[in-house]
Amino acid sequence: MMLYQRSSALFADAQKVIPGGVNSPVRAFKAVGGTPIFVKEAKGAYLFDEDGNRLIDYINSWGPMILGHAYEPVVNAVIERAKKGTSFGMPTEIETQIAELAVSMVPNIDMIRFVNSGTEACMSAVRLARGFTGKDKIIKFAGCYHGHSDSFLIQAGSGAVTFGSPNSPGVTKGTAKDTLLAEYNNIENVIHLIEANKGEIACIIIEPVAGNMGCIPPNKSFLQNLRNLCDANNILLVFDEVMTGFRLAPGGAQELLGVDADIITFGKVIGGGLPVGAFGARQEIMNHLAPLGPVYQAGTLSGNPLAMSAGLAMLNELNNNKDIFKSIAEKTAYLHKGIQEALKKHGVVHTINRIGSMISVHFSPDDVIDFTTAATGDNDTFKKFFHGMLNNGIYIAPSAFETWFITDALSYDDLDTTIAVVNKIAPELV
Ligand SMILES: *Cc1c(COP(=O)(O)O)cnc(C)c1O
Repeated sequence: MMLYQRSSALFADAQKVIPGGVNSPVRAFKAVGGTPIFVKEAKGAYLFDEDGNRLIDYINSWGPMILGHAYEPVVNAVIERAKKGTSFGMPTEIETQIAELAVSMVPNIDMIRFVNSGTEACMSAVRLARGFTGKDKIIKFAGCYHGHSDSFLIQAGSGAVTFGSPNSPGVTKGTAKDTLLAEYNNIENVIHLIEANKGEIACIIIEPVAGNMGCIPPNKSFLQNLRNLCDANNILLVFDEVMTGFRLAPGGAQELLGVDADIITFGKVIGGGLPVGAFGARQEIMNHLAPLGPVYQAGTLSGNPLAMSAGLAMLNELNNNKDIFKSIAEKTAYLHKGIQEALKKHGVVHTINRIGSMISVHFSPDDVIDFTTAATGDNDTFKKFFHGMLNNGIYIAPSAFETWFITDALSYDDLDTTIAVVNKIAPELV
């Protein structure tokens, strides 16, 4: 049993000056109970908290630290860059360097614009899609999260689901009416929406592999069917690859699954742990963006040199050693097998979803293929699982609606340790 006296004291202080003591809701442990852990530092696969515990980390800053914490080439790039000034609000060469590299790695983008978060990337991508097509409505899928901008807070996954407030107060009815909702993996649903809103839909935005209702891979042919529907109806297909980009393959889900999108959004890995988002498309679409075209989008700190240096160092590592993608997928498969055997042995009802280096454990007897089935997971069992893991030094996301993010810094010893913990706590889960 680990003690969290110092974290508790720090959390009490934080709550006095920061709403809920956190700057992003899921961090608050509301879904699992208990006190959030304050981090002191991290290295490789491990977190070191303020109470002196070492934890094996399966969140990795919610995705960015795909090569582990404090990864030296990234850290060194940031340090060297910081010495030369941290922001200018003027063009720098490094922005072109990371743009060239990203465009060379990702299919179907000729140009890319850098912003400061995944939220900004998705918000801007939809504005661009509307400006390009001259249409207002968008289709999103229940349980998919595209950041916290107004249009997307309609049955968003992740934190919004965790707190049972899928439609946030503050989002106007006017905004909500332009967001149409479909069920993930349900093509009939999408066909129906397109029929009912003929000529009005600018884009379909989707996580090509859902990661914000746990991990839910698309059904075979679902994405290709979306592609065909978009082509037939003059609708743009937007892949939100904030989570899957530079994670599932060098070219993201488009490459792994072999389906082409029109606009692709990025975040997480592309910033190497600094606040970066981006969106890209073919020339014809990007030409509509200011200052080339009329669709406005801007940012004082966009393309910030520190952030670009971290992102460039990260993408260079991934581009120069593509075996990393195979390595993390193999580690994830190993973990899957070990956890599954442990839970089975003790008769714990569960379903595990996995693709590449994304994996999630659902305490549900049925297949988890969409938001409705994801919501059938037993949250009491998840709470016990979360705290059991934590008490034994394993840190997973404090919500059943999150994917685990596997880092290449994890050794097979770390994975065996994790599996042994699942074996140890499994009897308490039935
Ligand atoms: C994390 C995430 C976002 C939002 O990115 P932020 O950087 O948190 O704003 C958007 N889309 C997906 C798929 C994400 O996983």
